[in-house]
Amino acid sequence: MEVLLAENLGFCYGVKRAIQLAEDAASLAKDAFTLGPIIHNPQMVAKLAEEGVGKIDSLDELDSGTVIIRSHGVGPSVYEKIEQKGLHTIDATCPHVLKAQRSAKELAEAGYQVVIVGDKNHPEVKSILQWAGEGSVAVNDETEAEALPAMRRIGVVSQTTFSSAKFKSIVMVLLDKSLEVKIMRTICTATDQRQSAAVKLAQEVDFMIVIGGRNSANTTRLAQLCAEKCKTYHIETADEVCDEWFANNKKIGITAGASTPDWIIKEVYKKCQKK
Ligand code: SF4
Repeated sequence: MEVLLAENLGFCYGVKRAIQLAEDAASLAKDAFTLGPIIHNPQMVAKLAEEGVGKIDSLDELDSGTVIIRSHGVGPSVYEKIEQKGLHTIDATCPHVLKAQRSAKELAEAGYQVVIVGDKNHPEVKSILQWAGEGSVAVNDETEAEALPAMRRIGVVSQTTFSSAKFKSIVMVLLDKSLEVKIMRTICTATDQRQSAAVKLAQEVDFMIVIGGRNSANTTRLAQLCAEKCKTYHIETADEVCDEWFANNKKIGITAGASTPDWIIKEVYKKCQKK
């Protein structure tokens, strides 16, 4: 059985940094908590819990100690509340997300109607919307962009993990909505690199295994893209690898989302090699 790994897979820079900051916090303080899961990977969240980093879903759950802001970032009201409560902060917001938040704020302050291209239910987009302030909107596809009214000045920011091809297509719609459109292309290359490498590999193999949290949007997207090219299985851990997948197949490909830890990728790789 030939088992090939995608050229780019697994933890991105922002996730590696967030995990490192959380692990450092665990060794320094006993009362460190992430606000929401540090990344969309249940196995990594469980590992951090074992190391002593807890998770809270709301600041109301914490009256003292350290709060770790995850890579998706938060809105200004969260920073204000942390300060009011006198909590210590470790800010693991990915620098690329910070750039998108800052761009949205600056565009709004300069008088642009801010349109964020991304999923309004994703925590990162929620945080960017808050930095852009009242009146800002998020659109996830061309239809939602089409439904927007004409505007005097539009400032466009993208969710960092958004598909660049889809971003361009949505921007084309927005160009017809205003005479002045300022575009901040705040897409992070980690996503593009993982998607291109996954699609390339999916064209060469009998089937693909995509590893990562089922709650991870970027992993789910990788699985969708691979499924357009070949049979694809989305799994979270090596335990889910099934014997029957390997019958009559000679070459398989593996990729993993930006929030999938290396140790899980290694376990899946080793298990597949033994088939
Ligand atoms: S995918 Fe990009 S923006 Fe998101 S955490 Fe990773 S490096 Fe940062």
